[in-house]
Parts: sequence; C-alpha cells; structure tokens
Amino acid sequence: MPLTLRTRPSRRATRPLRHRRAAALLASAVSVALLGASAPPTPLGVGDRLFPYLGNPGYDVASYDLSLTYPGSNDKPLQAVTTIDAWTTSDLDRLNLDFAHGKVESVEVDGRPAAFESAGEDLVVTPDEPLRRGDWTRITLKHTSDPVSAKGQDGGWVRTTDGLAMANQADAAHLVFPCNDHPSDKAMFTFHVTAPNGYAVVANGLPTGSVRTGGRTTWTYRTLHPMATELAQVSIGRSAVLHRAGPHGLPVRDVVPSADAKKLEPWLAKTPDQIAWLESKVGTYPFETYGVLMAQASTGFELETQTLSLFEKNLFTEPAYPKWYIESVMVHELSHQWFGDSVSPRVWSDVWLNEGHATWYEELYAEEKGHQPMINRMKAAYGASDRWRAAGGPPALPKAPDPGQKISIFRPNIYDGAALALYALRQEIGKPAFERLERIWVQRHRDATATTADFVRLASAVAGRDLTGFFDAWLYGAKTPPMPGHPDWKQVAAPKKQTKK
Ligand SMILES: [Zn+2]
Repeated sequence: MPLTLRTRPSRRATRPLRHRRAAALLASAVSVALLGASAPPTPLGVGDRLFPYLGNPGYDVASYDLSLTYPGSNDKPLQAVTTIDAWTTSDLDRLNLDFAHGKVESVEVDGRPAAFESAGEDLVVTPDEPLRRGDWTRITLKHTSDPVSAKGQDGGWVRTTDGLAMANQADAAHLVFPCNDHPSDKAMFTFHVTAPNGYAVVANGLPTGSVRTGGRTTWTYRTLHPMATELAQVSIGRSAVLHRAGPHGLPVRDVVPSADAKKLEPWLAKTPDQIAWLESKVGTYPFETYGVLMAQASTGFELETQTLSLFEKNLFTEPAYPKWYIESVMVHELSHQWFGDSVSPRVWSDVWLNEGHATWYEELYAEEKGHQPMINRMKAAYGASDRWRAAGGPPALPKAPDPGQKISIFRPNIYDGAALALYALRQEIGKPAFERLERIWVQRHRDATATTADFVRLASAVAGRDLTGFFDAWLYGAKTPPMPGHPDWKQVAAPKKQTKK
C-alpha cells in the first residue's frame, strides 16, 4: 500500500500507551523483558534468501530525513543526521537498523537517548522503554557517512572526479545511512545537503529550495513517491543542472559536469522522446520528474536511481559504442522507473522483473529506432540460456551472490535470460494480451512492491488461462523450455576457449 495514504497519529495518543505497556511488563512479565534486553545483540533480516541480513523485522519505515554535510573533499566523512519515522509492527525491546560503514555518535528514540551497539552489518538500538506494536516512533541518529569504501564493502557512495554520487543497489544503502535496507520497505525521503558554494547538489525528487549561509549552501529535495533505499541518489559536484520539458510538461533535469554540458547536450535532448516512446508502450511516466546524471567515475554500470538515473559519462563519449546502443542503454534505465522503481521487487529473487523488463524495452527500442531486430538477440539468448541457468540459476531463482561480491547476482540469467522468458510469454499469449498485461502490471503495482507470483497471476488473468505451468518451466526450470513458435531454436555449446600453444 502506498505510504502516502497514512496519516500520522498524535504523539499524545501513542505515548501513554507505551507507558502503560511498560508498566504492564514490569508488573507481570518482568523476567521476559529483562531476558530480551540482556540477550546479545544479533544481526537480523527479513528473510531474503539472497541477502539474509538485509532489512529488519518489527517495523515499517514511513519516511527518512537525511541531513548530510559535505566537507568539500570526497575522501573525508560527511557529517550526517538521519531521522527515521516508522510504525512498529510488533512489540520491540530492541530495534535493528542496517548500518555498516560510518561512526554513530548518538541515537535517540522519540527524543530520548537510546543505547546502541553494532552486530554484523546491523546497528542494534535499545530504547529506554520497549516499543509497543502499532507505535509511531522517531529514531534520530547522528553519524558520519564515509565515502571511502572499506575493504569488501563496494557500493554506496561513488567518488567522482568532482564530488560524489550514490549507487546503493542491491545492498549498499546501509553503507551510506542507517536504514531498513530492503526494497520491501519503501518510504518517503527528504534530503538536506550542505556543500561549499560552487557545488551543485541534486537528489531524488523535486527541490524545495536552497539556503546560502556564508560559504555554504544547503539544498533540500523531497520525493513525492515512496522509494526503496537502494534507489536513493545524491549528486554533489561541479555540475550543470539543465532543465527541459518532457511529455505533458513533465519536468526533466539532467546533471552533467559543467565543462562538458555543451558536448553532452545532443544525448540529453533525446530523453523527452524516449519518455514519450515508453509512455506509448506502458502508460504514463510514474514519477514527478526524470533526468540523467552523468558522473565522471568508473563504475562499470549504470543505475536506475529513482527520478535521476546514474550513468558513467564515458558511455556518451567513448567513440567505440554505436549510437543505437547508447540510446538503448538510456531507455533501459528509463524503463526501470516503471519496472523496478515504481514497481519494486518484494524480494531480491524477483529482480528478474526489473532487469527482464528493462532489457525487453532496451531491445524493443533498438528494434524500432535502431533497426536491430529483437529476434536476433532472442535467438542468441536462447542458445546461451541453459549455460546461464547453470551458472546463475533460473531467472526467478537466482543463485546467491559470490562471496565478497554481492553485486554478482546481476548475471545474464536475470537480463537477457529473463527478457527471453518475456519473449516466450509474448509468443505464447500473443502481442495484444502481452501489451495489455504490461500496462496493467505497472498501473496495479504503482508505488508498491510485487512478486513473481503476482506477475504469474496477472498474466494468467489477462490471457484467460492458467499459465502457472508455463512460468514454472520458464522461470524456475534448470533447462530452457522449447520456444513457442520457434521449434528450430536450440542450445548452442559454449565457444571453446583458446588454449595457449
Ligand atoms: Zn537494469
């Protein structure tokens, strides 16, 4: 359910309840409460099979308010205050947050100092009195946010040549700020970022103003839609922020290194038409704004951070990439705004719903605008599909990340391998039903999370027949099923590795 529908109860209504609860515990179950509080703190999770310690049970975050102070150099920690407003969903003696890189100076729960301790990648907070199920609670943490990665902790802040950007997918937001770091708990975000004058700051959502004080400026941004922690973006740099209008007046703002603004403009000018093209396929763009952030950094990937996708600047300046390819990558990240951002995976095993669809629209755009027939890429994917399944698992049951490389869940099985499953679906149910399914999917689960089972159910409803068996084979099978309509498609043996003579 969208968090925007919630109303905040008055503090007066909740505080006395908590006191009563505490009194009741003391009177009748003092030993239980004491046992709970004295057990050693342990890292917890929400049961994600790929990331067992991501997220935390017992509460549902409604909003994050992040204040970050950038010192003017990207190898020193930022000073930060993170304020989390949440509902408790069970009684809690203690509350775990994900936070694994940065010093915590103090924690307050509902305005009163709370004890805290690290356990694994969690910060375990003990309020001065237990929280009761249904409480509205505010956790305020003073901490640092360190842009210099610790060993084995890639992701989070990305250091650019002129400042910082963020790349938190899948499990690195908690290297930047304390949070419930799992896409199943989306929340509203406000960012206040203070930087020396001369820097431009852009974050997810829309600006609500900036205030200059002496040599520093504080920039504030707010999201109008709930967002997963993995999709947070804060760009601090010597940047030009370029504004243009998208379809039906959608504000588009791009963030590029000032010195390159003119050279990059031909690429930026493509975004409004790309949005219009995607709207013609799946319906209205789901957020308040969009834009491209071109960072001077070598990340090796692009990332669909909500309302402001992160790209390596080199993608646009490297002469080896064909024009159609660069545009199709732009469309890949743009389509994630619908598939992955507005509709988020409930667990990380559902990530094929993000990448399969983004690859699908990337290929469809290349076919329609760049004369690169989709069928060629699908046939090639079919030939490699069994190998991808063996290496990474079937699309909806990906193997766990390699040790020390959590980003390694992003294997071909969830990109081209999952787009191949969507192609099989379109072959099976026909183009009109497939296109209807896509539109209903992003509309029905807008601003929420969804599962593979939700997709199977909706596809069956739209097709008017039970597709469970079809999806079982395509999404969970160790081997790739025959492609409907293409009985001649076969698996192709891996190219032999050259041996040194
Ligand atoms: Zn993607």
